[in-house]
Amino acid sequence: MSERYFPDEMPMPAVSAETAPWWEAAAVHRLVVQRCTECGTTRQPPGPVCPACRSMEAEWHELPGTGTVYTYTVVRQAFIPALADKIPYAVIAVALDDAGGARMVSNLVDAEPTEASVGMAVEVVWEDMGPELSVPRFRPAPGARPAADR
Ligand SMILES: [Zn+2]
Repeated sequence: MSERYFPDEMPMPAVSAETAPWWEAAAVHRLVVQRCTECGTTRQPPGPVCPACRSMEAEWHELPGTGTVYTYTVVRQAFIPALADKIPYAVIAVALDDAGGARMVSNLVDAEPTEASVGMAVEVVWEDMGPELSVPRFRPAPGARPAADR
């Protein structure tokens, strides 16, 4: 099992027919994005139809797992009761590298939440929440912080 950042009592993700392949890739620690095979537009979150060309054809493109913080917020209230012991924590939107502009919402881990900043380089770290459920979190990429902080 991986390092744990959030408790088992967190709300579990809702898996649909469109997102099941994404979660199956995540379970083996592969970060992927759905990409239209007709025009190359990425769909995040996954969907049945390309918003650019209306094609229903798509493939799963594996990403390097790096990106930059597009925006963030620091949560200081226990909106989710199970996370009362985890506040404050940072919720970040990551602009994913090699993903055609796709972003995803996650958490900044292995850092103080107040370290989050727009443009911060981050890399994926997988949190195994169960035998078939892994969730991507993001930590500062090597070199994202001054050497004295590492
Ligand atoms: Zn398309």
